Amino acid sequence: MDKELLAMLVCPLCNGKLKYDRDAQELRCHYDGLAYPIQEGIPVMLPEEARTMDADEKLPSSSGRSPGHSGGA
Ligand SMILES: [Zn+2]
Repeated sequence: MDKELLAMLVCPLCNGKLKYDRDAQELRCHYDGLAYPIQEGIPVMLPEEARTMDADEKLPSSSGRSPGHSGGA
């Protein structure tokens, strides 16, 4: 993959940067938890073609987000 091309690619859903996984030939958006396949060197930037990543593939969202106390009666 061309590094300049990679730098141009963003997730079509969140417009976030994608992480290129060379082994899996995937472009991953950790925000959406989707992995876009690269077929014959061409990234397929279609959400319907993307693979949903497993929970352990995603980055742990340990940014101090607490569930909050919404315990109403
Ligand atoms: Zn995304």
